[in-house]
Amino acid sequence: MTTLFVSDLHLDAGEPAAGAQFVEFLRERAAGAEALYILGDLFETWVGDDDDEPYRQGICQALAGLARRGVACYVMHGNRDFLLQSGFERRTGARLIADPLIIDLYGEAALLTHGDALCTADRPYQRLRAVVRDPHWQRRFLRLPLRLRRGLAEQARRGSQRHTQRTASPIMDADEAAVRTAMRACGVRTLIHGHTHRPAVHALELEGARARRIVLGAWHDQGSCLSWDAAGFRLEELPRTAATAAPSGSAAAGPRP
Ligand code: MN
Repeated sequence: MTTLFVSDLHLDAGEPAAGAQFVEFLRERAAGAEALYILGDLFETWVGDDDDEPYRQGICQALAGLARRGVACYVMHGNRDFLLQSGFERRTGARLIADPLIIDLYGEAALLTHGDALCTADRPYQRLRAVVRDPHWQRRFLRLPLRLRRGLAEQARRGSQRHTQRTASPIMDADEAAVRTAMRACGVRTLIHGHTHRPAVHALELEGARARRIVLGAWHDQGSCLSWDAAGFRLEELPRTAATAAPSGSAAAGPRP
């Protein structure tokens, strides 16, 4: 049996190629897996479970199809879709999981996290994160009319893009000390995260033992997936097929954690 991990799909009606590839991924690849973990930023924005926007509804239906096949699907909040709640779970059959979370991967303890909390050098972002992850702030936001929430989310998205463009690249990456602290505190030798859009397998030494940090890639230009079974793991690039290739001119999206 295989467990699959993806993150940072940033699905949005304005960038349909990623969603088309993901729906195909759910039907083909994930259907044969034991479990699928989506480690944050499945959606580019999520303004509340009451949002009836057809594109997001379609993605939710595709996830429900996976659940009907008996594949366990776990979804972690990212910095874009942290307002996913129980209505999303009911609609999709997926289960929301805590960030961070330790799981047993065929005998290997792995620490899962979206990754934004590891970017500790980005102080303005960490201050924003503390505000929007506060349950009181979230309850107040979710009481606003849907149209207003959509507008505010669009503003936040543009603000985040400006911040990403202005901020130096190393500051946007996971902080080495934060990575070590988290892994040591959890007693794990394997960390899996997304968010930075820098897919890689980093080897590190932790208290004299070999450890690794596996970073999942974003789905803007192609898919990215980590597959894990009893024999080991593979971090894969998933090129777009002809059926799901981006229409020309839509590739300007670039990485936007
Ligand atoms: Mn992110």
